[in-house]
Amino acid sequence: MKPLIRPNILRMQPYPAGKPIEEVQRELGLTEVVKIASNENPLGPSPMAVEAMKRAVSGVNFYPDASGYLLKQKLASRFGVDVSQVMIGNGSDEIIGVIGLMFLEPGTEMLMGEPSFLRYGAAAVLGDSGLVRVPLDPQLRHDLPAMAKAVTDRTRLVFIANPNNPTGTIVSRQVLQSFVRDLPTGVTVVLDEAYHEYACQDPDYPDGLDLLREGLPVVVLRTFSKAYGLAGIRVGYGFASSEVVQSFNAARNPFDVNAVAQAGAMAALDDEAHLERTRSANKTGLARLMSGLTAMGYQPVPSHANFVCVDLHRDSAALYGELLKKGVIVRPGTQLGLPSYLRISVGTERETDLFLQALGEVCAQEVVA
Ligand SMILES: *Cc1c(COP(=O)(O)O)cnc(C)c1O
Repeated sequence: MKPLIRPNILRMQPYPAGKPIEEVQRELGLTEVVKIASNENPLGPSPMAVEAMKRAVSGVNFYPDASGYLLKQKLASRFGVDVSQVMIGNGSDEIIGVIGLMFLEPGTEMLMGEPSFLRYGAAAVLGDSGLVRVPLDPQLRHDLPAMAKAVTDRTRLVFIANPNNPTGTIVSRQVLQSFVRDLPTGVTVVLDEAYHEYACQDPDYPDGLDLLREGLPVVVLRTFSKAYGLAGIRVGYGFASSEVVQSFNAARNPFDVNAVAQAGAMAALDDEAHLERTRSANKTGLARLMSGLTAMGYQPVPSHANFVCVDLHRDSAALYGELLKKGVIVRPGTQLGLPSYLRISVGTERETDLFLQALGEVCAQEVVA
């Protein structure tokens, strides 16, 4: 007999994991492979975080602190909120899933931009709720006026990635403020600020914490995976009202942020110099990638994050395959809802140059053929 798995789960697809670098290298006989597909920090983690994690390893016979007490204290004082408003999880991915469990059930609806971060949709499927996707505006920003119109009395959650992934665009402070203030009661907005550390230098970029301080129904998500360079240890965090955080803590797995990860995250928060280096390297690297693409005649979407989304006017799955043969792994838009686009993370200078060179070669081949 077939296992009686819920039909909505049977319709789901697993996350489109990229191939490990070593595997690509072996299969294609390449000596150098660059992976600029998941918006990781090309400078690596903070050396202080690495040291702290090494020290923590010798204590792993003990369970981690289930509440993440010290990490939450540090986050609370850094960001000026009460510790009862702080949540941590096994990457913001886990927090997104638990928030979905908390608010969504059959008969309710979740609202998101299209295209936006893939895991939001999964939260709706897992919760057996309705999922309403509202297309981005022509500049590929969240179309908040259209999203406001799509709210119904069944709507429980609205997910907004700011900056958005995969487009790198932001919604401005004013537009976001009036959207959230005008929502009917009973709707919670999840502001996913995974790229906050890159975007926050733009004066137009709203800090979700300001909305939370105003008492508005928002959940603000951040992560150690991007600018902090700790994607491999899986720590995300967030801020919400203490009522939401209390239920979140009841629903989540108690030991989901492991002891090594807690130690690494705390040390990373203390290493402000590393964060500053990361920001400044990203600024230079982003300019290099943008101007390289522009010089080739493309119009990359202006980005507020550490990646660039660009329309190459061809099937991105095929292009992805051609670039892979040259040892460059990027994210094809076919996986992201933008079939003719690529999403390229800002890597080191060398990685960016290898990508631009490979793209140039692939496009030259096409012209000859
Ligand atoms: C990368 C990313 C995340 C996932 O972060 P983790 O903390 O690694 O789970 C969440 N949201 C967006 C928009 C992202 O791009």
